[in-house]
Amino acid sequence: MTSGGRSLDIVRLGPHVEQWHADHRAYPSGAPLVVTGREGRMAIDSSLDVVPTDHDGFLLSHFHEDHVVGVAASGLPVLVHADDLSAVRSWQGFADASGYTDPAWHELVTTQFSWRAMTRAETLTPGRPIDLGGVTVTPVHLPGHTPGHCGFLVEPDHVLYLGDIDLSSFGPYYGDATASLVDTIASLRAVREIDAQVYTTFHHRGHVVGRAAFETALDRHAVMIRARHERVQALLDAGHLDADDMTGRGVVYRPGTRPPWGLEGERRMIELHLSHDPSDLPAPPHEQDDA
Ligand SMILES: [Zn+2]
Ligand SMILES: [Zn+2]
Repeated sequence: MTSGGRSLDIVRLGPHVEQWHADHRAYPSGAPLVVTGREGRMAIDSSLDVVPTDHDGFLLSHFHEDHVVGVAASGLPVLVHADDLSAVRSWQGFADASGYTDPAWHELVTTQFSWRAMTRAETLTPGRPIDLGGVTVTPVHLPGHTPGHCGFLVEPDHVLYLGDIDLSSFGPYYGDATASLVDTIASLRAVREIDAQVYTTFHHRGHVVGRAAFETALDRHAVMIRARHERVQALLDAGHLDADDMTGRGVVYRPGTRPPWGLEGERRMIELHLSHDPSDLPAPPHEQDDA
């Protein structure tokens, strides 16, 4: 693997699963997985700090720039969900899916992340195990963050890779042009039902051992959707009429702490909240405990 001179840890999550990460894993950094069977070795995602090497191909959780560093340049086979395929195959597809059409964003993604079109990327099939010989990797479609966002269940290791359902206290991100709040909520519900021994994320939290610890972390992550919804309602009550007028007022990012594209993403997320029926918002953890 390449490291840019930074220290790297390889954390073993199961007999066939390693997670490779640097000392930092908040965006733009992250920690890919490497799964090794008798007949094959696959990387799940790649990152600025860690580009896996000595393997047969890449499985991508989704199209975002921070997950695909060095993947096109490797020349190896790449599989991604059909709903994210156009976003890895061309810059136009990426721009359409993300909604970031500013030339400055293109410049940032192609320089900082060395983004290149993966013209030969193919589709994976959710629910169909990929057999590496004595170990399987099964894609699980968990849309919302992006339309094709997937997790991966590795058996017999009972390891579930969550992609960008990152269990952070910041909460889920659904600020792309093709992101969906409804799908995000449905995926948070669906992933809560998946039985595994180790649950791991690309950013932030890293791995969590055991179902109970996972449920606690997931619920604290998911409840941020409700918190944002309440902030939007409070701004409406205070006379702010639309998403433009609410952006930059702390709904998603505390003022001053947002990334370069943060205002645009926040505006889109507020729009989703303004058009959303709040009845299905994830409940705070203590309410779920009481249920
Ligand atoms: Zn992402
Ligand atoms: Zn990410």
